[in-house]
Order: sequence, then structure tokens, then C-alpha cells
Amino acid sequence: MTNLETTHHKKSRANDYVHEVYELVKKRNPDEKEFLQATREIFDSLRPVFAEHPEYIRNGILERITEPERIISFRVAWEDDKGKVHVNRGYRVQFNSDLGPYKGGLRFHPSVNSSIMKFLAFEQIFKNALTGQPIGAGKGGSDFDPKGKSEREIMRFTQSFMTELSKYIGPDIDVPAGDIGVGKREIGYMFGQYNRLKSGYEAGVLTGKDPSHGGSLGRKEATGYGTVYFVEEMLNENGLSFKGSTVIVSGSGNVSTYAIEKAHQLGAKVIACSDSGGYILDRNGIDLETVKRLKEVENKRIWEYTKDHPDAEYHEDCSEIWSIPCDIALPCATQNEIDELAAHMLIANGVKAIGEGANMPCNIEAINIFLENNILFAPAKAANAGGVAVSAMEMSQNSMRLAWTEEEVDERLKKVMENIYASCKNAAESFGKPGNLVMGANIAGFLKVANAMVAHGIR
Ligand code: NAP
Repeated sequence: MTNLETTHHKKSRANDYVHEVYELVKKRNPDEKEFLQATREIFDSLRPVFAEHPEYIRNGILERITEPERIISFRVAWEDDKGKVHVNRGYRVQFNSDLGPYKGGLRFHPSVNSSIMKFLAFEQIFKNALTGQPIGAGKGGSDFDPKGKSEREIMRFTQSFMTELSKYIGPDIDVPAGDIGVGKREIGYMFGQYNRLKSGYEAGVLTGKDPSHGGSLGRKEATGYGTVYFVEEMLNENGLSFKGSTVIVSGSGNVSTYAIEKAHQLGAKVIACSDSGGYILDRNGIDLETVKRLKEVENKRIWEYTKDHPDAEYHEDCSEIWSIPCDIALPCATQNEIDELAAHMLIANGVKAIGEGANMPCNIEAINIFLENNILFAPAKAANAGGVAVSAMEMSQNSMRLAWTEEEVDERLKKVMENIYASCKNAAESFGKPGNLVMGANIAGFLKVANAMVAHGIR
């Protein structure tokens, strides 16, 4: 009886604490819906942790972990090819440095705002912790839209962006990488500008560089491959596999392309992918060489795939991609692409597993629907951590002034993803929710950072 009461007391103290801090976070960030969505998901998972660990409550971990150490916002002025002046807003959210220098990508997309930057940087805290590598968490970017801009306009914009950002980053301070709208071309321009401003050559200031000048082999593939490695672990554990499965992948950018490639290598048939304009359905299996040419070389829209593959269908509404029956769905485009409706559609059509390649592609309601229906679910923080893991490997190679082979990087990536899967699985089991990898990822990531925060004192 006493034990029961004690457990009840512990639980209600944890619930009160989580509730109180969430109200505080809402009050402080009233208009930041993506950031509130990301914090709510974490908070829901952490209740059992606070019931067992009152020291985290005493140390105000939740209050501190939800407030960025620093947010930098700056003007980025640049001239287009006709001499017209434009102004965009740049951001860098330096969220948490308890495990190492801030680390996280830069996103160039017109939707970028403070809420999106903060949700991405917040998620990065737990993701980076899960990799087991010594990296803190940050995220940045701009509301600049690269679509329709000339090569020179992109160069002038990125140089102007880096001129300001360079004041706040460095190999031991904050190491940005790419994200939506920022690939090796943009990283190359930013790297050049940073070193021009610093009058030197600091190889480790950015990751995602081209392997011909300081980048790591395997970085381009890492997020997509890593997602598939993680999902394969989850499938195998449940007597399933990619082999012989039908797969849908949203997007056709960096993460999607290499998720498709690895899924094909493991014997799956990927039959659909998309861009923000619409999706293509090719029942013969997506021809990845065509997608790579269109997206990596020619900068074209995905509908042009049907020019080379007349059997394939193009549909204009990209969100309808989830109405295609499949065994495995890999949302790899952007946040909140799968809502309740899409989740129900996927389940009705027999989906067995979901793997989040993008950041927060499923909303909370959709995640709950998948879990309630026993659909295997690989959460983004864990499943897409392969990109940042190989970025950390790029930092190591830069420090040691050497380059690992593609095979060496891929082997390490696979090991990291297996370890992340094991951490998530074990944390879920230890806290009474076996198989719930959402809770497992949140808890396993949180514990690493929380312990470092306790050790470093109140700051
Ligand atoms: P990317 O190369 O810029 O590709 C994004 C792709 O998604 C593009 O094909 C884009 O099409 C498409 N897209 C955007 N909004 C869409 C929508 N509503 N429906 C369908 N497609 C849409 O970006 P990325 O690097 O692959 O990043 C994709 C996601 O993965 C993001 O959530 C990012 O934060 C996350 N992530 C990336 C990495 C990494 O290493 N790159 C690591 C971890 C997580 P348009 O060209 O038409 O816009």
C-alpha cells in the first residue's frame, strides 16, 4: 500500500512539474506553434523520467532545456542580377552546448521563422545526444527562397549571410551544416566566405563540404541511408524487412534520394516520391538515376520524370502521396506532412511501418494514431540522426587532417544507427513502454543531456 502511494505521489509530482513548465513555455512563446508542438511531444514522453529522477526537477532541467542559450537574428542584404536590393532575415539558434559545440543545419526556405528555427534546434538537442558524439545543438537559416534565383544571386546571398554569421561560429563554438535549400554548393560559398573573413583555413567550421575540399565521403548519403538502416533494425526486430516491400518516400531532395537508394539496395521497391508541386507514381519502381539527374543536376521539377517514363503518373497534390497503398512510408520532405487524415489513410491501406526521414513530418495526432494501431514507428530524432552523425565524423577527419574511405564511413554510420536503435529500445523498455521508440528516443536523448546539465551546474 505504501509503495503504491509512493508511486502515485511520484507520478503526480512529475505530472505537476511537466504541466507547470509547459504552461511557462507556452506563455513565453505564445505564437510559436512548431516549437510548442516539439516541446509537447518531448514533455509527454518525459513524465516517467521525472517520476524516477527528482534531481532533474530540483535542477530545473526542463525550464533550462527549453530556453535557447542564445538566439541570433540578423539582416541579410543582397543585390539581385538587375541591381535591385533585397533584405532577408538570418537566424542562428544556439540551443544547447552541454555536450559539445552547437551543431545543426542551415535552412533556406521562405517559410523559415523563429518558431521553425527553434523547433529544429530543440529537436537537434536530443538527436545529437543520441548519436553518442560530442556535439551540442543549434539550427539556423533564412527566409530566403533559392527557387528561381541565378547561381550568382545564390552566391551573393550566401556570402552576405555568412559575413554576419561568421561572428558567432567556429570549429569549437558552433559548426553549421546543410538542410532544406542548403547543399554542398551553398556550403562551398559559405566556407569560402568564412575563411576569407578570417584570413585563414578553418576546415572544421562547416560540415557537408564537398569531399574534394574537406568534406567527408558518405555525408551526402548519410541521412537517407541512416534512416533506412534504422528502419531495417526496427523491421528485423519484428520479423519484417525492406526486402520485397513496397515503399513510398516523400520529397526528392537530399534525404529522399538516398533513402530511396538504400531501400532499393535492400531489395524494396520504391514506387512514389514527390516535390512541393506534386508526386509521381511509378509502379515499375522509381528510376533513381532520372530523379538524381532532374534534382541534383538540372534543378527541374519532379513532374518531368514522366517525360522519360511515360508509364508513370504525375499528380499535382503532393499530400495525396499517402493515399497510395504501401508497406513502408518514409516521409522525408518537411514538417507536418502526415496528419490524422493521412495516418488513417495509410493504415486503411495496410502500412506496416513509418520511418521519419524529415524532421517532425508527422504531427502528434498522427503519431498517436500509428502507435495505437501498433504500426511500427521510427521517430525522426533517432531515425534521421545519421546525417549529423557523419557530420561529426567530418569534424573528426578535419581535426585529424585525414579522410576516411566511403566504406569506413558507411560502416561507422551503420554502427551508430544500430546503437541508436538499441538505446531507444532499451530506454522504452526501462520506462515501461516496450516498443514505443518515440518515448525511447526522447528519454534516451534527454538522459544524456540532463546528466551533463546537472554536472555543469545551474547556468
Ligand atoms: P532538400 O534537399 O531541400 O529537399 C527537400 C525536398 O522536399 C524537396 O524535394 C522539396 O521539394 C520537398 N518538399 C518540400 N515541401 C514539401 C511538401 N510539402 N510536400 C512534398 N515535398 C516537399 O532538403 P533535405 O536536406 O532533403 O531535408 C528534408 C528534411 O530532412 C527536412 O525536414 C530536414 O530538416 C530533414 N533533415 C535533413 C538532413 C540532411 O542531412 N539534409 C538531416 C536530418 C534531417 P521542392 O523542391 O519543391 O521544395
